[in-house]
Amino acid sequence: MQKKAASSQGFLPSFQHFSTQAIHAGQDPEQWASRAVVPPISLATTFQQEAPGRHSGFEYSRSGNPTRNCLEKAVAALDGAKYSLAFASGVAAIVTITQLLKAGDQIICMDDMYGGTNEYFRKVASEFGLKISCVDCSKMKLLQAAITPETKLVWIETLTNPSLKMIDIEACAHIVHKHGDIILVVDNTFMSAYFQRPLALGADICMYSATKYMNGHSDVLMGLVSVNSESLHDRLRFLQNSLGAVPSPVDCYLCNRGLKTLQLRMEKHFKNGMAVAQFLESNPRVEKVIYPGLPSHPQHELAKRQCTGCPGMVTFYIKGTLQHAERFLKNLKVFILAVSLGGCESFAQLPAIMTHVSVPKNDRDIFGITDTMIRLSVGLEDEKDLLEDLDQALKAARGHGPGGAHFLGHFYSRDPES
Ligand SMILES: *Cc1c(COP(=O)(O)O)cnc(C)c1O
Repeated sequence: MQKKAASSQGFLPSFQHFSTQAIHAGQDPEQWASRAVVPPISLATTFQQEAPGRHSGFEYSRSGNPTRNCLEKAVAALDGAKYSLAFASGVAAIVTITQLLKAGDQIICMDDMYGGTNEYFRKVASEFGLKISCVDCSKMKLLQAAITPETKLVWIETLTNPSLKMIDIEACAHIVHKHGDIILVVDNTFMSAYFQRPLALGADICMYSATKYMNGHSDVLMGLVSVNSESLHDRLRFLQNSLGAVPSPVDCYLCNRGLKTLQLRMEKHFKNGMAVAQFLESNPRVEKVIYPGLPSHPQHELAKRQCTGCPGMVTFYIKGTLQHAERFLKNLKVFILAVSLGGCESFAQLPAIMTHVSVPKNDRDIFGITDTMIRLSVGLEDEKDLLEDLDQALKAARGHGPGGAHFLGHFYSRDPES
């Protein structure tokens, strides 16, 4: 019997050949006259034709770009997909997918989905005659009951943000595909291609804000979409060109580079995320921790069945009030107070005031987004530094720490044993 890797913690084994494909898929040096081992950044907007209508496969950069092609091939391989398409941002990918529908069609989406998706569906798409129904898709009965003859798209997100709820993709696909040609989309941003493969679980479309883990370096806005169906691919490819929300070749190059270390990064995010979650769970200044890698997570068993591991997203409730949460955040020295996630740097934020301030108070209460809920994106720094930072900020939040800006110098210069 094969010995389980220590880090797998009962999760699915990693997808085979993942890093080999991340490094080689779409990158064959022989596609270039120069034999470049990484894709050149192809900035040309247009390409010479041999004769009218006879071109090399590239005609105009919106409809196809050599650097973008390489990235799209790599992403398809990592998703176990036939096709992948890149967009200028996660939201650009979401808008393009939504254009598969027409006025009168209904979209069923998660009730606590990403704020940008929610806002686009409710304030923009609905103005064009699309009907939007927000449902708790973790409850299969509710999903089933929401489906009507007009339903054309079911949009789920797993993990959700910031409550880190997990959705059973296979169960959703089973229900959705009983009803004719409804498209099931999974926003796989929080898990990344390394931890979860929605298409293999029955989803029709897997999408990412690659701005987060897939690129992973907090320096590119990007959206990615993977599919297996040729007809879906053809329609999306047409829309990619027609709507024109394509990424720049420089961003394609950077994201392509980011993917090569996806496995290494995600393993470290998992290791650091788990260490932080365990530390917080045993800390008396913490009310509650939400992390799907912890046995205390209500869907820990589903996570192990569906994923190969967990990302660095840890949500917790600090004991006390808004004032304690704010003092905790103010006193962090390694974690950066910022929105977004999935970078090398660790981030901390207060969803009720930052990412989720536009969510109505009543909905925030339902999803548990209180004034003491803090969301961490645990980065790739040294575990010990992260735990020490959290420890000192938790103490300072209670008025026992040094606090204030002068502490920064002290932190970096102090005796490591003190
Ligand atoms: C950030 C994010 C998006 C939007 O992507 P952008 O790249 O910011 O346009 C969509 N879904 C999720 C889950 C996200 O975190």
